[in-house]
Amino acid sequence: MVELVGRSAGHGEAAMAQKRTDVVIVGAGTSGAYLGWKLAERGFSCLILEKDKLENLGVAIGPFHMEEAAFERFGIPLPGDDELLHRLETITMWPPCMKGEVTARLVTLDMDKPSFMRRLLSYARDAGVEVLEETEFTRLARERGIPAGVEARGPEGEVEIACRLVVDASGIGGAVRTSVPASPWFENDPVADMDTLVVYMESWGDLAGDLKPDINSFLHFQGWYAPSHGDEMIVGWACPRAPRGRGNATGPSRRPFPSAARRGVPPWAGCPTAARPTRWWTTASWWWGTPPS
Ligand SMILES: Cc1cc2nc3c(=O)[nH]c(=O)nc-3n(C[C@H](O)[C@H](O)[C@H](O)COP(=O)(O)OP(=O)(O)OC[C@H]3O[C@@H](n4cnc5c(N)ncnc54)[C@H](O)[C@@H]3O)c2cc1C
Repeated sequence: MVELVGRSAGHGEAAMAQKRTDVVIVGAGTSGAYLGWKLAERGFSCLILEKDKLENLGVAIGPFHMEEAAFERFGIPLPGDDELLHRLETITMWPPCMKGEVTARLVTLDMDKPSFMRRLLSYARDAGVEVLEETEFTRLARERGIPAGVEARGPEGEVEIACRLVVDASGIGGAVRTSVPASPWFENDPVADMDTLVVYMESWGDLAGDLKPDINSFLHFQGWYAPSHGDEMIVGWACPRAPRGRGNATGPSRRPFPSAARRGVPPWAGCPTAARPTRWWTTASWWWGTPPS
């Protein structure tokens, strides 16, 4: 159990709630919720801080895919009908010329991410984890230079939590890690823009024609399509984020399909007509500049 050990004068006017636990996990995403659950099962008291509302977890992603074998490997029960959208048997890898594709067996579960997140968090709570939503990590508390707890801001004001271990499960922002002062022994750099993938997805209901069933992967073009809700397909595309200050900060900094650009053809030119995302092509054309010489 997480202990409430009192209230102290905070940095501002209001008193700060004080708690004590074995482990504080910052972030209730897949990593934080899973780790909290597994640590609590082993007898550690855990508190998860999540800056967002719990009901929003996974909503921005919607349908997502996970290899079926991973469930057994990580000790997670398989999803039920309310969460499982499709069980996919194969993955087809397409070469750049779009001929001679290879289909392999890879059983993948296509699931609703918000439902999956609710389930993971329910396992964590059932095991005794306390989850504070809309509570943002603000500062690492240290004693003689060693992490000894965290400070956070929630709906009821500031909270100070003493603990034995702080886990940064805050995703790509690395809220805790990047707040620690630089030292030769600690890497506190933010993840660089060029090491960040921007993933763009659309759900299409009007794909027709000779498509391969299940997952289709176009590694060369950093694109894919796969079943989504009902008969819809996700058409997805990933590329590195642009460095800040260069062009649009949320768009990729280089052409995502350089070899196709060099040939002067749109990247999806070889795709089956039905899978060609012409709608993107018009909306994303600004991502293309002068082909490299
Ligand atoms: C569009 C898209 C599609 C994807 N599809 C798949 C897929 O099909 N299959 C797959 O396996 N993976 C997929 N991924 C990747 C997967 O979503 C990530 O790998 C996974 O979410 C990482 O989990 P995480 O817990 O490390 O981080 P996150 O899920 O990012 O969770 C971090 C949490 O920390 C919280 N947080 C951040 N800062 C603070 C703070 N200061 N205080 C408190 N809380 C904080 C955030 O609100 C967030 O809830 C996809 C990703 C995207 C973007």
